[in-house]
Amino acid sequence: MEFVNPEGLRLDGRRPMEMRQLRAEIGAVARADGSAVFEMGNTKVIAAVYGPREVQNKSQQSNDQALVRCEYTMANFSTGDRKRKPKGDRRSTEISLVIRQTMEACILTHLMPRSQIDIYVQVLQADGGTRSACINAATLALADAGIPMRDLVTSCSSGYLNSTPLLDLNYLEDSAGGPDVTVGFLPKLDRVTLLQMDAKLPVDIVENVMQLAIEGCKAIATYIREVLLENTKQLEYRRGL
Ligand code: UDP
Repeated sequence: MEFVNPEGLRLDGRRPMEMRQLRAEIGAVARADGSAVFEMGNTKVIAAVYGPREVQNKSQQSNDQALVRCEYTMANFSTGDRKRKPKGDRRSTEISLVIRQTMEACILTHLMPRSQIDIYVQVLQADGGTRSACINAATLALADAGIPMRDLVTSCSSGYLNSTPLLDLNYLEDSAGGPDVTVGFLPKLDRVTLLQMDAKLPVDIVENVMQLAIEGCKAIATYIREVLLENTKQLEYRRGL
């Protein structure tokens, strides 16, 4: 199948190095301490953060740092005709773990000993790259909850199809069976905190594809900073400051 046409356009009309349209909204879940909706094209996810709060299971409590928990689920209606168990399957367990580790790397857990932070992420609409979208939503939700972080962690995927590196794969591109990487990146610290790869990628190309995903992460970080700034301005306006 042709994923990049002779004019250099992808199936959804994007250029190879173009990201899907981003959209974010802070405060979607009123009961949560922090929450956000994050969209990357047709992939739409929601994140809700509770905490820091008392540790529920005392045997998991740590005197040195906060306990971070994460649950990734897909809403029953989030996918088209590919019906799979949305909760409790191996894929969701793996993605929950990956997101937890990624968020843990940016939260200043040592400032909140004997406490617990719960991060819930749910996919409302799936079109590839849901784990990246969830990491981006979780970052916004953590910032909204006022949880201290060493940096904003952002995530983006990239792949390699028709001998072309492609940024931010959608479902059709992702399911083509070509290699793809998902990167989690701390922009201020210039550090990669997550790297997952599906299928083999020639070693002379891996650097290129990974660098493309890092550029995507940087662009997302710029967008997230804008959203946070706008949100702060609105809060100040409402408080009459
Ligand atoms: N997907 C689906 N049903 C499932 C799991 C995945 O339709 O039960 C689709 C969904 O669009 C998802 C894509 O397959 O975004 C790629 O899934 P993958 O496991 O690679 O994770 P993701 O790219 O979403 O992080």
